[in-house]
Amino acid sequence: MYAFTLERPQTVADASRLAAGGAKVLAGGQTLLASMKLRLSQPGQLADLSGIKELVGVCREGNALVIGAMTRHIDVANHPEVRALIPGLADLAAHIGDRQVRAMGTLGGSVANNDPAACYPSAVLALGATIHTTSRKIAADDFFQGMFTTALQDGELITAISFPIPTRSVYMKFLQPASRFALVGVYVAQTGSGVRVAVTGAASCVFRHAGLESALNRSFTVASAASVAIDPSDLNADIHASAAYRANLISVQTQRAVAKLLA
Ligand SMILES: Cc1cc2nc3c(=O)[nH]c(=O)nc-3n(C[C@H](O)[C@H](O)[C@H](O)COP(=O)(O)OP(=O)(O)OC[C@H]3O[C@@H](n4cnc5c(N)ncnc54)[C@H](O)[C@@H]3O)c2cc1C
Repeated sequence: MYAFTLERPQTVADASRLAAGGAKVLAGGQTLLASMKLRLSQPGQLADLSGIKELVGVCREGNALVIGAMTRHIDVANHPEVRALIPGLADLAAHIGDRQVRAMGTLGGSVANNDPAACYPSAVLALGATIHTTSRKIAADDFFQGMFTTALQDGELITAISFPIPTRSVYMKFLQPASRFALVGVYVAQTGSGVRVAVTGAASCVFRHAGLESALNRSFTVASAASVAIDPSDLNADIHASAAYRANLISVQTQRAVAKLLA
């Protein structure tokens, strides 16, 4: 580590002011502190969001659940309304990382970080969520822009994410056992405007799969998912899995998701 100052704002307005002045916001610290230890990130000032009560919690607004940015994974996993209304999201949160990561990591930190293998971005995209920030509301389709890159501007903070309640949805994660992130994860949601399928872990950024969506909108069956050929050409290849293996996993995980939703 190296010298830096730490601020503990108690309101979003104070945090926003600090961020506008160049402070790096600290949420659960599960990514940021590790990257500081490795000196991949060297902020001179941290603004710890953990004291800001208005950023924590779940509330229902019309046909959506609005979850505060500083809500920890474990609290999403255990929240009765999330479990009842979007069980796929609660289950996703329950299987992030390990106990420590779930006890400390936050929804806002995960989505702002946009790790290509993170779980939450697939739910945000498949459920057609809206990201609330200190200055605007951003549709999920416009938010995730590339590896570790989002539509957030410098100093702009996520305050909450609004998840429309789907007819049904599920996340199928194929675990990378060493990191516990997704080697490939597929979130399938049946919504009022049709089926949405978002894939994480397979490419440089979470993405929707148009072929799977149109097949499942025509016929919501396992056979329909299986009939879609997955093109491996833009997928990741590394020591853990080839692009062809990941393409096959996208198909298999989608079939499993559909089977689970139909069961
Ligand atoms: C061992 C391990 C295993 C993991 N496994 C998984 C997994 O299986 N699936 C998964 O999805 N994730 C996994 N994670 C990631 C983890 O769940 C956290 O979501 C992630 O580390 C970031 O969240 P955080 O709250 O810790 O954010 P931090 O590390 O505090 O911050 C991350 C980045 O986001 C920025 N930021 C934080 N909050 C906000 C905000 N409200 N507005 C704007 N910017 C913000 C910070 O400035 C920083 O740049 C794992 C992490 C570890 C260490």
